[in-house]
Amino acid sequence: MQAGDIMRAWAMILKGQKPTLSIEITKECPLRCPGCYAYEDEHLGTGVNLRQLSDFKGDDLVRRILKLADEHRPLHLSLVGGDPLVRYREVETVLPQLLARGIHVQLVTSAFREMPAAWKTYNGFTLSVSVDGLQPEHDERRKPATYERILKNIANQRVTVHCTITGQMMKRPGYLEEFIQFWSKVDAVEKVWFSMFTPQRGDEMPEILTPDERAEAIRQIHDLRERYPKVAMPKRLVDHFASPPSSPSDCIFSQVTETISTDFQTSITPCQFGGDPDCSQCGCMASMALAAVGTYKVGGVIPAGALFRGSVRIGAMRRARSRGAEVLNEDPLRVIQ
Ligand code: SF4
Ligand code: SF4
Repeated sequence: MQAGDIMRAWAMILKGQKPTLSIEITKECPLRCPGCYAYEDEHLGTGVNLRQLSDFKGDDLVRRILKLADEHRPLHLSLVGGDPLVRYREVETVLPQLLARGIHVQLVTSAFREMPAAWKTYNGFTLSVSVDGLQPEHDERRKPATYERILKNIANQRVTVHCTITGQMMKRPGYLEEFIQFWSKVDAVEKVWFSMFTPQRGDEMPEILTPDERAEAIRQIHDLRERYPKVAMPKRLVDHFASPPSSPSDCIFSQVTETISTDFQTSITPCQFGGDPDCSQCGCMASMALAAVGTYKVGGVIPAGALFRGSVRIGAMRRARSRGAEVLNEDPLRVIQ
């Protein structure tokens, strides 16, 4: 994130707006990944499962995406699912229109299908392809989006490979290095990002990293980012995996991101995971990236994180005032502490 982006994000937060928006544009997905949070009953927090929610297609979907983008005017928009490529024609139509509005767009996909070659030429666009480990494990977890299919479908693209590290991966020495060795050699891959599996509170699953495995994963990412230039993760970001936010209210990412589900009404809280995520074991790279931004000292004095959190409260008070609601009699400057 550049200094200009921080200032623009800050200005939006002070107005009670969220600078990043994520839209689950479809509930459909051809994959059945173990540990997928999107289809958990608790994901939406409404007692309704994502599979039961309405979703949209065709011109109606395009119109709704643009309307939401125009209402929120985010700096950054993620199109997620399900798998957004289930609606690839709509994505193909809406992408240039979003980019023309000056919004940075990220599409998060399994790359189960081919994509238009023109996407490679788009500025302000990130094509993020989820790859969950080396071929045998990935193919088992993410068929039909197998290695063979991904490699064929991304051949004419410029992609960021995003790997979510699991407990199973960390039980095999050298796993992450083998992974980065493979994907570093693929021309279409511009960057590689690592997240770690984030459980819901009370979960017991083989995907969850033990504290020792988490510490080892951090050590290995630090080492790999030094030796493999495609590992695009600043040191400060990687450091934050060791001390994730203590709660959603402590998480800058959750505070500045609005996530909307497929009916274009349901807001997913407290973050994209929905439900009751275990922040103490959060492995979300975006959360760590914003936590790292939060440690920068604005003017060499005030941590950006304190400014963001304080500004979120000021923005909320302003919105409440503009709606004519009763507002706490609080000095706004006191919250920037
Ligand atoms: S591709 Fe994503 S949405 Fe689809 S099953 Fe896998 S994790 Fe869930
Ligand atoms: S992104 Fe991570 S730290 Fe932030 S609210 Fe979600 S689980 Fe918690």
